Amino acid sequence: MSQLQRIAIAPSQLQQGQILLTKEQQHYLARVLRLREGDRFIAMDGRGKWWLTQLVGEQGQVLEPLLVETELPVSITLMVALPKGNGFDEVVRCCTELGVTTIAPVLSDRTLLQPSPQKLERWRRIAAEAAEQSERAFVPTILEPVAFSSSLSFENSQQYICEARGNLPHIKNCLQHQGQGTIVIATGPEGGWTQQEIESAIAAGFQAVSLGRRILRAVTAPVVALSLVSAACEV
Ligand code: SAH
Repeated sequence: MSQLQRIAIAPSQLQQGQILLTKEQQHYLARVLRLREGDRFIAMDGRGKWWLTQLVGEQGQVLEPLLVETELPVSITLMVALPKGNGFDEVVRCCTELGVTTIAPVLSDRTLLQPSPQKLERWRRIAAEAAEQSERAFVPTILEPVAFSSSLSFENSQQYICEARGNLPHIKNCLQHQGQGTIVIATGPEGGWTQQEIESAIAAGFQAVSLGRRILRAVTAPVVALSLVSAACEV
């Protein structure tokens, strides 16, 4: 069981045992994840190939290929607006079982309550237990809660924002199967996203999608989204 951080790379970034990191990836590893010289991380090409990699200077040095049997072939980041009460525990547990890579708890305009640091620890523990139970090779990363509108920029990814109403295309008809990178999916709080949140997400490159014709609860929506994506991506 490994807690190593993972990043998605394009297959062309691997050259002679070196992973040529983009400026954004260098920033993400060094500044966001605070990795230092010699620290290890996992590089995944989104096509089922993973490499244990070490940060050397500004590049990645491949140490060994990893055998991946229980992980999804794509990297999925879920941005979930924090529901009220303890509903997020269930989101973390179920989505870990379903293969999520990263969960970003987000504070939206309609859920402003900042969770306590103990909650984050609790979610990470739940993720570790669920990963073990479902025999995953890796424990998903649970990020610190952030404001939704300040966390909308992603590199090299397909981004979807789930909206309960409106005549939107179904997510299963929007997923692009070619290409690598991460799939980012955002689901809203009990009261739904505000119009402004949806507009800023669309401006940041998200596509608004439906998960079906029924209105799902805030804790059900991420689980359904992940089931649909994993069913579409796994052979
Ligand atoms: N109270 C809102 C619904 C909120 S449901 C209303 O009545 O409109 C909570 C979140 O789950 C939504 O913000 C959305 O992200 C997601 N969701 C629920 N049902 C959905 C569906 N059928 N399609 C897409 N997203 C859905």
